[in-house]
Amino acid sequence: MTAYSAGKEVLSYCGKCKLPLGHTIVSMKDTHTIGKVKCNTCQAMHMYKDPATKSKKVKSSTTTRTRKKKSISVNDLWTEEMGKVTGKSVKYTIRETFEVGDILDHKSFGPGIVQNLVDDKIEVLFQHEIKLLVHGK
Ligand SMILES: [Zn+2]
Repeated sequence: MTAYSAGKEVLSYCGKCKLPLGHTIVSMKDTHTIGKVKCNTCQAMHMYKDPATKSKKVKSSTTTRTRKKKSISVNDLWTEEMGKVTGKSVKYTIRETFEVGDILDHKSFGPGIVQNLVDDKIEVLFQHEIKLLVHGK
């Protein structure tokens, strides 16, 4: 780390110029923390603003963009589907008849979404697996 001290020049974000510019250190909070600075461009005196904090937003969005999903797991699919559905879940019993898009609550597998109707069975997406369940009996 560079040692800062009053009278030295430092790059700080200037609120008046709206740019990171060369500033002269006026005061120090402690040996490593800059207190007040004076803008070399507009001569305004203000607290030191690290110009790096201004670009943090850009950095984090780049990270998100590069973090691409290679494959969708059952868990991801379930989370996505559960976020889309708005209806109330129905307790699963073999006697109940379900349709595609219905949310059911299974006592062993937890909440699930009916994905398909296969013959007389329903294909249900649960958090960790896709199951074929009998219904409408
Ligand atoms: Zn300025």
